[in-house]
Amino acid sequence: MNKKDKARQTQAVRAGVDTDSQHGAVMPPVYLTTNFSFAGFEKPREYDYTRTGNPTRDALAGVLADLEGGFGATVTSSGMGAVTLACQMLNPDDLVVGPQDCYGGTFRLLNGLANRGLFNVRLVDQTDPNVLAAAVAEGAKMIWVESPTNPLLRIVDLAQTKKLAESVAALMVVDNTFLSPALQRPIEHGADLVVHSTTKYLNGHSDMVGGAVVAANEALHEQMQWWANALGLSGSPFDSFLTMRGVRTLYVRMQQHEKNATSLAEILSEHEVVGKVYYPGLKSHPGHQIATRQQLGFGGMLSFELKGGMAAARVFLETVELFTLAESLGGVESLAAHPATMTHATFDKESLAKAGISDGLVRLSVGIEATEDLVRDVLQGLEAAATVSPR
Ligand code: PLP
Repeated sequence: MNKKDKARQTQAVRAGVDTDSQHGAVMPPVYLTTNFSFAGFEKPREYDYTRTGNPTRDALAGVLADLEGGFGATVTSSGMGAVTLACQMLNPDDLVVGPQDCYGGTFRLLNGLANRGLFNVRLVDQTDPNVLAAAVAEGAKMIWVESPTNPLLRIVDLAQTKKLAESVAALMVVDNTFLSPALQRPIEHGADLVVHSTTKYLNGHSDMVGGAVVAANEALHEQMQWWANALGLSGSPFDSFLTMRGVRTLYVRMQQHEKNATSLAEILSEHEVVGKVYYPGLKSHPGHQIATRQQLGFGGMLSFELKGGMAAARVFLETVELFTLAESLGGVESLAAHPATMTHATFDKESLAKAGISDGLVRLSVGIEATEDLVRDVLQGLEAAATVSPR
């Protein structure tokens, strides 16, 4: 059967299976090696040095490119490595227009590099088409998109953003970490580069740190490969093996993440101590229509505001038992975070306010545990939060 005829779920499960011609290993061998011998004098083999190329890493890159529908993927040592790699497409004086509530590490890197004069950066509310259009019209060379955004799950219209990018010949880069290719394929909506923290859903088991940049075309892919090697950003073979193992179950995991998140979003929406709930699957979410159009599902991330502010957030987070208080997201286990003091602590007060990140905001990475246990746990957290919340 031709690769293109197989469902992506099948491609994910079967990636590299039964390709070992030497021993017939069903699962592809892991090449934990720094270098590869020459077959003879002036006779290099396909691989020579692992920073430049490694079969295990290439196997992962191949499946990521297939799942995203790109020309090729470059696997990096972290999601921030992938962000750094995509930023190599910017030159001094170029303008990158990003989201004001982007991931804290991306915010730090874009501002840090801009402060050194490597390029200019404007972070705006990309869900407001007029605001985005005005910023892009200043002569953007790159539009950096996160959709859904972190942590407020705002939805950016990818097709519309592509039109803006084309109007000024800018590259469109989409960080697809929150949904994974199982639930969103940005290249189909015009993305030139898709960035991932594979640390999250793609690996899915919170036991490594990695990233990837999937390029829509050959020219961009070659640049990504060249810079990853030149800067030393390449991901390790062992982490690539772990990620590929995770990718095999991506599609089934995403279904359970979404089922659980939907149930929690519903009970949170009805609870008296909760102000706003941010989950694109809710009809009340301002980006629900766009999400329905451009996504294949709504995912496992949600945020909500507790009316009792910081005090209520603290009580909630100290009460829940199945939501581990930790940074990161996308693993099989449920996690909870307080963005203002954790993931977005790099934001100053003004940027937090501008991004709409309040002291009472709690972000959940909803895992794949049994739905009823997660519901019971969240309800117990909300009951505890009620003791310090205005009624
Ligand atoms: N992009 C998003 C949306 C993220 O949430 C993160 C990490 O949380 C990153 C990029 C950076 O990834 P990493 O932590 O793997 O460097």
